[in-house]
Amino acid sequence: MKTRIAIAALGTLFTAFANAAEAPHWTYQGKTGTSQWAHLEADYAVCGTGQRQSPINIETRKVTGTTAQAIGLSYAPANAEVINNGHTVQVEPANGGALTIDGVEYKLAQFHFHTPSEEKIDGKSYPLVAHLVHKSADGKLAVIAVLFRTGKSNATLRPVFARLPAKPGDKHALHGTINVGDLLPPKRDNYRFIGSLTTPPCSEDVRWVVMKRPVSISSTQLAAFRKLYKMNARPVQAANGREVLVGR
Ligand SMILES: [Zn+2]
Repeated sequence: MKTRIAIAALGTLFTAFANAAEAPHWTYQGKTGTSQWAHLEADYAVCGTGQRQSPINIETRKVTGTTAQAIGLSYAPANAEVINNGHTVQVEPANGGALTIDGVEYKLAQFHFHTPSEEKIDGKSYPLVAHLVHKSADGKLAVIAVLFRTGKSNATLRPVFARLPAKPGDKHALHGTINVGDLLPPKRDNYRFIGSLTTPPCSEDVRWVVMKRPVSISSTQLAAFRKLYKMNARPVQAANGREVLVGR
């Protein structure tokens, strides 16, 4: 009996090491926090050396122009999985639709949350942001950021926030379907720039679309998320003279 317990314990230990080898542990604060990401793994170096990192503080007086084309949105109601991945809660709709920018189609892959919002507008952050992550056929990424202020309950997110997966690794099927288009503000004015993933490996060449107008979430919904993740936002990164355009 004792031997069996010892073997089981060893198994757990080996699994822990194997997982650590696949993806090093990173956090938002402490020894593996945001200032250390670049040193945790060779692949994460760009978190420190990159010149076009995200998030940024959008300075509206420095916005340089307007994009030629409006974004194209073709979202549809979809079944989805809700996953607690240890860094955030992520919703993965199956065939949730697509975003088109400058003639390139990016299919919706997932959306997830950060608190407080990672992006700032003229130095102001919001209590929460959703990142809608899209991928093109050739693997390029485009992310729409939707900012949230507290107020009315968010009906679109109600099925997600009513039952959040409590522990890292937990996941379940969303009750009913979700149309990601319903998450966006009715007026689609936005800020556009090139940036990066805001989590390791901080890969660059990501197209960012930050919605100008926030949408609403209730303080109860916000509290439900913060019960799991009190703070999961990377600080703003240097803009390095990056071009920020206004889009529709
Ligand atoms: Zn994100």
